[in-house]
Amino acid sequence: MKRILLLLTVLGLSGCVEHRVAEKPVTNVIEHGDYAVDTSYPSQEQDERVRFLIFHYTAADDKESLRLLTHGSVSAHYLIPSHPTQINGKPVVLQLVPENKRAWHAGVSGWAGRNNINYTSIGIEIVNDGFHESAAGRQWIPYHKEQTILAARLARDIIARYQIEPQNVLAHSDIAPLRKTDPGPQFPWQEMAQQGIGAWPDAATVTKYLQGLHRWSAGNVATIQKALAAYGYTIPQSGKMDPETLRVISAFQMHFRPSNITGVADMETEAIALALVEKYRSAT
Ligand SMILES: [Zn+2]
Repeated sequence: MKRILLLLTVLGLSGCVEHRVAEKPVTNVIEHGDYAVDTSYPSQEQDERVRFLIFHYTAADDKESLRLLTHGSVSAHYLIPSHPTQINGKPVVLQLVPENKRAWHAGVSGWAGRNNINYTSIGIEIVNDGFHESAAGRQWIPYHKEQTILAARLARDIIARYQIEPQNVLAHSDIAPLRKTDPGPQFPWQEMAQQGIGAWPDAATVTKYLQGLHRWSAGNVATIQKALAAYGYTIPQSGKMDPETLRVISAFQMHFRPSNITGVADMETEAIALALVEKYRSAT
C-alpha cells in the first residue's frame, strides 16, 4: 500500500510538471535571480565592443610569463607558449581571461582617436624574449614557427567573430609607441596579412608614392607625421624630426618595414604610410 501511494505521488508530480511545460507560452524570457529578462525584441543598432586585436611578446620565459600574467599586475586574454602542446593534432593556446572580460595588456594607449584600448581589445601575448643587446647592436629574437601558426589560427577566429577591421589588428608598439617595442620586427606581419590577418599596403601603391625616388632617399617629415596620424598613430605634428616622432616612425617600421627600423624618415617609409592611408583610411 505504501509503495502504491509512493508510485501515485511520483506519477502525480511528473504529470503536473508535464502540464506546466505544455502550458508555458513560447517567449525568450530568462530568469535572473529575483527578476526576469525578455530578449524577444533585439535592436538592429548594435555592434561589438571588441574592436582591436593586439599582439605582444612577454619578454620572459614560459614559467615567468605565466606567473606575471596570472598573478602579476598585468594580464592578457591569451598566452601562446614557446612550444605549444597539441591536443588531437591541434596546438593549444592558454586562455587567461575570458574574451568578455577586460584584460590589462595595453596600458596607456591610443589608436585613431580612441584611448584606453584595454576596454575594447583582445590581447594575445606570445612567449618571446624580445631582444638582446650585443656589440653588433640589438638582436631581435625570432618566433618559433609553431607559435606563429597558432597565433594566425587564433587571430583569424577572433577577427571573424568580432569583425575586426584590418587596420585595427595591431602591435602593442603601434598603440603605445613611446613605451613599447613588442611584438617587435620579428613578428611576421606580412605573412599574417597574406592570411587575412591585419593590414598591408599594396606594392603598386607604394611604388606610386615613391615617385621614382630611391627608397632610402629623404622623405618629408611633415608628410609622414600627417600620414601616420591619419592612419591611427599618436604622433606630433611638428614638421620636425623630434625624439617622439623618431620613436613613432620606428614603431611603424617594426610593423610595416621590419628590415630597417631606425626611425629615419626615408622615402620608403613615407610611401608605405601614404599607401596604407589610401587603402584603409580614404573612405572615412
Ligand atoms: Zn605588450
